[in-house]
Amino acid sequence: MIELIAISLENEMDLVLAHKRTMKVAEKLGLTVATQTTFSTAVSEIARTVIEHTDNGNLVIGLEQAKQRYGLKAVFTFESEVRFTNADEGYYYAQKLVPEFDMRESDGVTVIDMKIGLPRSLLLDRVKINVLQDYFSKAEPLNAYEDIKKRNVSLNRIAEEKEEELRQSRIIDEKKTEFMSVASHEIKTPITIIKAYSQMAKGRKDECSDHVKGILDKIDLQSTKLLTLVQQLLDVSKIENGNLVYTIERVDFNAFVSSMVNLMKNIMPHHELTLDLKGDGMVELDTLRMEQVFSNLLGNAAKYSEKNTNISVHTERCDDDHLKVTISDQGIGMSGDSIKSIFNKFYRADDVLRTHSGLGMGLYVSSKIITDHGGRIWVDSEIGTGSTFSFMLPVSKKNR
Ligand code: ADP
Repeated sequence: MIELIAISLENEMDLVLAHKRTMKVAEKLGLTVATQTTFSTAVSEIARTVIEHTDNGNLVIGLEQAKQRYGLKAVFTFESEVRFTNADEGYYYAQKLVPEFDMRESDGVTVIDMKIGLPRSLLLDRVKINVLQDYFSKAEPLNAYEDIKKRNVSLNRIAEEKEEELRQSRIIDEKKTEFMSVASHEIKTPITIIKAYSQMAKGRKDECSDHVKGILDKIDLQSTKLLTLVQQLLDVSKIENGNLVYTIERVDFNAFVSSMVNLMKNIMPHHELTLDLKGDGMVELDTLRMEQVFSNLLGNAAKYSEKNTNISVHTERCDDDHLKVTISDQGIGMSGDSIKSIFNKFYRADDVLRTHSGLGMGLYVSSKIITDHGGRIWVDSEIGTGSTFSFMLPVSKKNR
């Protein structure tokens, strides 16, 4: 069937619409006023009966070609437990009005078809039908009710399209995460082997010239950087999959922070690291994951500041329940916009894109680790004056 109009049948207002729209179709086809009225009355009668019993009916008016002749057809579909019988006045009456009438039911959906043949003298052809379809698709709403109804339909369609887009992008996202996970696993193994061999070679000090030792140091350093990046990629995919797991132990907070800073001092020889420990307490944490957080925050503090500048680490007890760490540098700082996005996945400030290498994963992973520990992380910064990253962790309950 070539559809001209479609109306959902939900309430009495739709009955008026069904009648008026059917009249208009019959009129535009050039049918006599008597035929217009007969067909529209039959449609209205069934529409009324459908609305009486259900609120999920649909009416489609269109044209159907059988052999060389077109017919004007109305098709009602609705889900209903109710059986229509001749006892329904409207149903009985409509059958009398149109020459072709049929009702069938399958899978809980009832379909009522009614049709009148159109005279050949109307000279209907595909071009005329296209014009009619165009007319009804652009027709102004008959009243405020139809206007709202149309808007609702288009809003629903947009909502459905958006939902589908969202579903598709979720699928792509899942595939990307899976790819990241597989790729980083595959890359990690050969890098680990390269690193192990460079360390073995470095161990054979006597057999190496200073030049070769220098080369081995560079291989070792670069493979460590690569391993960190691959580990971050793996962590991001673990976060996406909800697979980041923690091995929690109870530790003395200040002792732990102190050990972290001492460890990092060896890795960051070009910066002055100062430590100020206050208000100690016990915390419950995954030491390896928390080491990752310190390595990221201190590594960034060094990366985004000049050599030989100071990086200070400070701890304090904020309240009875939390311990706080602040890491301050005297580096490039960041804008207000960056501050808002800094913990987002893959975010990198515009001004570091060309000057500093990185993938924008470290802070995303670190913030996830902190929040998973029941804590909170934030940054205070100004361009040109440096940044202060702070995070708070809950004090171990067993301690209080
Ligand atoms: P990466 O350093 O690999 O880009 P991160 O997630 O660790 O990824 O950091 C995200 C971004 O935050 C960086 O690209 C940089 O723009 C900004 N940033 C992080 N730490 C600092 C800092 N200490 N000073 C200035 N900008 C920083």
